[in-house]
Formats: sequence, structure tokens, C-alpha cells
Amino acid sequence: MKNEMTLAFDSISENEAFARVAVAAFVTQLNPTLEEVADIKTAVSEAVTNAIIHGYGKEAGEIFMDMTADPAEKTLTVCITDTGAGIADVKKAMEPLYTTDTTGERSGMGFSFMEAFMDEVIVESEPGKGTAVTMKKHIGR
Ligand code: ATP
Ligand code: MG
Repeated sequence: MKNEMTLAFDSISENEAFARVAVAAFVTQLNPTLEEVADIKTAVSEAVTNAIIHGYGKEAGEIFMDMTADPAEKTLTVCITDTGAGIADVKKAMEPLYTTDTTGERSGMGFSFMEAFMDEVIVESEPGKGTAVTMKKHIGR
């Protein structure tokens, strides 16, 4: 039977570490390898960081993390949602090295890491409404 869990947390950088640990604990039920856990933690970290920095910026906001473990499929699905700024051109935003950051701190590789570490990444976004990043990974392949 599928197992589903939803977390809601404030858009502050401390919660990125929490989200990483929470998804690692959740996926344990699918008996992942350490490498699979590390991949998932990295992808979640990138999506949550994006929600905090690009979605909300200096504004306070709420981030949702929906997790589904499907033992029959042996898949983990994680969806990170924010109701912040949104993305005008998702295709462009997902290109390697594309960033709207002007501080020089960011490299524009977040979405590329998510795609490299997960089997499927779907980004739905609307300017002014927010962004949902849904990522799926097969465990034990
Ligand atoms: P890096 O992740 O390497 O530190 P980055 O965050 O700029 O840099 P990506 O994570 O690939 O790179 O994201 C690319 C761009 O997509 C961002 O610069 C930002 O403009 C936009 N973006 C990503 N996630 C969101 C979001 N949740 N809300 C609004 N804009 C976003
Ligand atoms: Mg990023």
C-alpha cells in the first residue's frame, strides 16, 4: 500500500536541513542504498533552497513537502511547493547554468542536479502564484 506524508514549514534556511533529514527518514521504508538516500537529499535540498531564495526571498512564506512511497512500484515521489514569486519561463530556468541571481553566489545548477539525481523532475509554475517541483526516483535499480 502507498504511504503518503505532507510537511509544511516556514521559508527559513534552517529548514532546508530539516527537509533533507525528513525525506531521508521517510524513504527508509523502501530500503534504499546510501547512495540513493544521498541523491534524494541533494535533490530535495536544491528544491527547498530554491523555494526559500527565489520563491520567497526576503518575504516570509510556507513551503510544503509531499512525499509518497510506493512499495509496489518501489518509487519515492517528493513534491516541493511554494506560493511565492513563480517562474515565467520554466524551460529556460531549467537550463544548466541559467540563474537570475546577481550576487554571483549561485551557479544555476540546481535544476540540473535535481534531474541528475532523480529519475523524473516536473516543474509547474506561474508568476505571482508559486512553483511546484515534483521529483520521482526508483529505489533499487
Ligand atoms: P544554484 O541552484 O546553482 O545555486 P540557481 O538557484 O539560480 O543556482 P537553479 O536552481 O537551477 O539555479 O534555478 C534556476 C532559476 O530558476 C533560478 O535562478 C530562479 O530564477 C528560478 N527558480 C528556481 N526555483 C524557483 C522557485 N521556487 N521560485 C521562483 N523562481 C525559481
Ligand atoms: Mg537553485
